[in-house]
Amino acid sequence: MPFEIIDGSKMAAEIRKEIKAEVEDMKARTGKVPGLTTILVGTRPESQTYVRNKKRACKDVGIASFSYDLPEDISQKKLLKIIKESNRNPDVHGILVQLPLPAHIDEAAVQSAISVEKDVDGIHPMNIGNLVMRGRKPLFIPCTPKACLEILDRLKVKIEGRRAVVVGRSNIVGIPVAMLLLHRNATLTLCHSYTQYLPAKTIDGDILIAAAGKPGLIRGDWIKHGAVVIDVGINSVEDPTSEKGYRLVGDVVFEEAQYRASAMTPVPVGVGPMTIAMLLRNTMDSANRFLSGKK
Ligand code: NAD
Repeated sequence: MPFEIIDGSKMAAEIRKEIKAEVEDMKARTGKVPGLTTILVGTRPESQTYVRNKKRACKDVGIASFSYDLPEDISQKKLLKIIKESNRNPDVHGILVQLPLPAHIDEAAVQSAISVEKDVDGIHPMNIGNLVMRGRKPLFIPCTPKACLEILDRLKVKIEGRRAVVVGRSNIVGIPVAMLLLHRNATLTLCHSYTQYLPAKTIDGDILIAAAGKPGLIRGDWIKHGAVVIDVGINSVEDPTSEKGYRLVGDVVFEEAQYRASAMTPVPVGVGPMTIAMLLRNTMDSANRFLSGKK
């Protein structure tokens, strides 16, 4: 059976090109460009890398970034004040707080403090609520779930009536991607750490989304022949042969999955670059809404 490695970098490059042209057009028409505030608390290396990549992607397409690198021990009050300032700043159309936050900060309070209209990560309860309910339209869809659907759509994968299996039920990935698939009329199975006989569930998936954050959890023979597999997991595993001493792997054993799946995203260059592209898309769409007065 033919097997396709889904080129997330190539897809993301196409989207960035589209957005760059839209930014240039906006600048020519209005003299303004979209703006994104990124807030990083602490010095977790992975978070620093994610934020750096997001800022670089903004710069490449002409989106202005306003960044805050805050100390680990910043008080919640000060953090909320920065968010409120960004909520009021007319040059800012999106606000992204990199997760996870230090334990002394209430993540839910931070997420709720971001203006619904600037919630480009789609994590405000109002946006999530509208995403979950049928017939409602959130202002923003969280970037990684949106990336998964964008990949399926760009590959022209049929969703309606097919079986979709999602492994993972986090607020930011598993639940929203499951809801998006359900709203597109897939028959959904949502698995999590309490699911019994996981292989018996994953084998049913015409579409399999792995978002458990467990390296190599899903083996080749857990995958239906011909399934499309989107591996969201990004896991760092020790690798003495690599310069850094580690390498990034997904939740699915790629070397085995390629003999079962018809198409699959690799890690790290599958869903990752598409997630960043969706952040740019959300920021662009938000700026359009603000500038057209439709917010
Ligand atoms: P999370 O830890 O918040 O959630 C993990 C989910 O997986 C939980 O719901 C848990 O119940 C489930 N799970 C854990 N072990 C399981 C098991 N053995 N069997 C079945 N279910 C199990 O993680 P998250 O934030 O949703 O992220 C998931 C993964 O996706 C991580 O590796 C993360 O780094 C990665 N991620 C990638 C991107 C990207 O852009 N590619 C974006 C966000 C997250």
